[in-house]
Amino acid sequence: MFKRLYPKHFVASIYDIDLEALKRNGVKAILTDLDNTLVAWNIADAPDDLVAWLDMVNNQYGFDVIIVSNNNGDRVRKFAEPLGLHYIAPARKPLPIGFKRALTQFGYHAKEVVFLGDQLFTDVLGANSVGIEVIHVQPVVKTDGVVTRFNRMMERLVFHRMKQKGIYKLTKKVVEEPSVLKHPTELRQTLQQEKE
Ligand SMILES: [Mg+2]
Repeated sequence: MFKRLYPKHFVASIYDIDLEALKRNGVKAILTDLDNTLVAWNIADAPDDLVAWLDMVNNQYGFDVIIVSNNNGDRVRKFAEPLGLHYIAPARKPLPIGFKRALTQFGYHAKEVVFLGDQLFTDVLGANSVGIEVIHVQPVVKTDGVVTRFNRMMERLVFHRMKQKGIYKLTKKVVEEPSVLKHPTELRQTLQQEKE
């Protein structure tokens, strides 16, 4: 049960996501939550830095971006349409239906996409249940709608457990040495070869 609440990666914000690595790993589309993942839950329009980031994601990296949000269709449409983004709303996360609709409607396999989200009990649980890898984004603002507050309380328990188990590791966007990017096994082999 708990495992389905664990994201694969953790970032402080979407701007810390290593888009180059996603590309290398065969990702074709980014599915994303809206409220408190891309913008604060009470912000109607995309700020300039988000517009610039989406432009880079679309045009430089060629990722399709699909918003999968539990908010009402009207809120999501008003946000997504001016940006030319696809959207599924209301998605009813953590139920699989919204995720599955995004995949079938736009023609992607679960392994070709990643999901960005700030909530364990909707975003992470739902995406994991349909086999989509999740990058957890820290909520843009600390305040939440009423429904979310209870989930946040429960989330604290899960985060505590993830920290205890060493699962929680925040990834910062840094330019790494090529050797650091290697898988530990590969790195060990390289070191072994150098010794011989
Ligand atoms: Mg959210």
